[in-house]
Amino acid sequence: MPELLTPTVAVIGGGPGGLSAAAGLAPHLDQVVVLDREQQAGGIPRHSDHPGYGIRDRKRFMSGPSYATTLVEDARAAGAQILTGWTVTGWADDDTLEVTTPLGRVLVRPDVFCFATGARERPRTARLVPGTRPAGVLTTGQLQNLVHVQHQKVGTRAVVVGAELVSWSAVMTLAESGCRTEALVSEHPVGESYSLFRIPGRVAFRTRVETTSRVASIQGRRRVTGVEIEDTRTGDRKVLECDTVVFTGDWIPDHELLRSAGVELDPASGSPVVDAAMRTSKANVFAVGNVNHPVETADVVAIEGAVAAERILEHFGGRPAPEASVRLVADDPIRWVSPSRLAPGGPAPARDRLVCWVDRLVPRPVVTVSQGGHRLARKRLAWPAAPGRAFRIPSSMLDGVDAAGGDVRIAID
Ligand SMILES: Cc1cc2nc3c(=O)[nH]c(=O)nc-3n(C[C@H](O)[C@H](O)[C@H](O)COP(=O)(O)OP(=O)(O)OC[C@H]3O[C@@H](n4cnc5c(N)ncnc54)[C@H](O)[C@@H]3O)c2cc1C
Repeated sequence: MPELLTPTVAVIGGGPGGLSAAAGLAPHLDQVVVLDREQQAGGIPRHSDHPGYGIRDRKRFMSGPSYATTLVEDARAAGAQILTGWTVTGWADDDTLEVTTPLGRVLVRPDVFCFATGARERPRTARLVPGTRPAGVLTTGQLQNLVHVQHQKVGTRAVVVGAELVSWSAVMTLAESGCRTEALVSEHPVGESYSLFRIPGRVAFRTRVETTSRVASIQGRRRVTGVEIEDTRTGDRKVLECDTVVFTGDWIPDHELLRSAGVELDPASGSPVVDAAMRTSKANVFAVGNVNHPVETADVVAIEGAVAAERILEHFGGRPAPEASVRLVADDPIRWVSPSRLAPGGPAPARDRLVCWVDRLVPRPVVTVSQGGHRLARKRLAWPAAPGRAFRIPSSMLDGVDAAGGDVRIAID
């Protein structure tokens, strides 16, 4: 018989979301365990050795690895037990996780589950890119693991597919390993990242962004020799010579365990449907971080982790789940909105913000919230809605929502 653990809370995933939730929970509950499949906890920041972490939550400008170390130390100091090399592989029954561990198979049956499994980039195979299958094609996650964790070299000339924040993170990692980025390729008319990164990035890394372009094929037999790109306005094609291609962005939430538990998923994002308290459709299953919204920055996710801890403690304190909630539905060009349910009268979402993803740039967005054909709120926001990064909407725009009024639509004029 495999060993059975029965903690009060099992946090699945030891990235910024899971570790912050565990740090908030552990001082108040008997046993809080964090299960992470990697040999060390910390999540993506551990692999992402550049500054830019901790700005909103720690009020510091930290590198990914030192930020990850701080989160791990805080969760441990709070009393959480962090179990690494523990991969949750499925469900033994409705209430019990099956976990592969260095000790063999273990069953974990907590009172409450907190899923913080994050999101991953869609790999080349799932993007249906034509061409050959040579070596040298990576995602940013694979690149950063090779360079920062395994200390291996990649090639000498790269093409980065995407031009969002994570794409510039890939350019930095490539530069560090001695690989020059020939170009970033973006389907959008302007690179998706903030101009604060885009403009100095082009100068510092002596690269360029090929806008309104898509990858038509990958060339090379054993190793990549080039990427053929197509201008989506003219149909003109050209080949960018390179020995490395990095596919960036195009995020998929790591939702497999939630899906197999029968938790309701939002078809627009693939994330679990959660309310502002980060409750899923199952009473004792919470979800936090990028599994809910692929993707936000780590500091925002860490703040959400702390809020999730408060909501889970309220659950243990006997605060009942709200009886009625309404769906939040995103209208084009908003692809999805998180949380995707709202219980009027319940708690506000973390940071009093809804997190959205948009498919095209709206430089001066006017956001409208309506229910049952009536407009509840309309507001011009001071920040653009841009693809490739989270677009945040003040949750106060939902103040007039009626629990019996049906779906709430969120649109950008
Ligand atoms: C290349 C790159 C650069 C970035 N740069 C920045 C930056 O400069 N600043 C910033 O603020 N943000 C940055 N981000 C975003 C930031 O890393 C994420 O917002 C943050 O890591 C999300 O935290 P999370 O806890 O939701 O998920 P993750 O950090 O992805 O953690 C999820 C954890 O779950 C574990 N896990 C998943 N499935 C299982 C399972 N079945 N069993 C056990 N464990 C499991 C994983 O091992 C992982 O440790 C960057 C992201 C990337 C990809």
